[in-house]
Amino acid sequence: MPPLKQLLRDHHLRHTTARQEVFAALQSAERPLFIHQIVNLCPLSNRTSVYRTLNLFATLGIIETITSGWKSRYELAGPFKPHHHHLHCTACHQLIQLDIPILEETIKSFADSHEYMLTGHHIELTGLCKKCQLSLSQGRD
Ligand SMILES: [Zn+2]
Ligand SMILES: [Zn+2]
Repeated sequence: MPPLKQLLRDHHLRHTTARQEVFAALQSAERPLFIHQIVNLCPLSNRTSVYRTLNLFATLGIIETITSGWKSRYELAGPFKPHHHHLHCTACHQLIQLDIPILEETIKSFADSHEYMLTGHHIELTGLCKKCQLSLSQGRD
């Protein structure tokens, strides 16, 4: 049984077309997706169902929301995708995936020392990529 179906069943939720489509779209994506990209990848679901599904998935911890300014991008959360963080360029909005084992260990031992059961964390590194630093120093846009 696919993990999504099991998880929905545990919450007494149906495995609807929109839920399957949104999940498949996020699963096949190599990068976090904007909502219009998700809508395009879900031809059998209307925009409203896609929005509702994203809200549900966020509540259930199936997806992570990455906010940059007023735009949001979505990606699958653990256990559906390996946990990672991003470097986010605030000029061109390029995202680079970061996997920092020492950061994860530090967070975990910090939580342990407070006898805290950790359910998640959000760390986003923002700045300018090399290309944008160059174009800034050359006075272009
Ligand atoms: Zn950039
Ligand atoms: Zn982490």
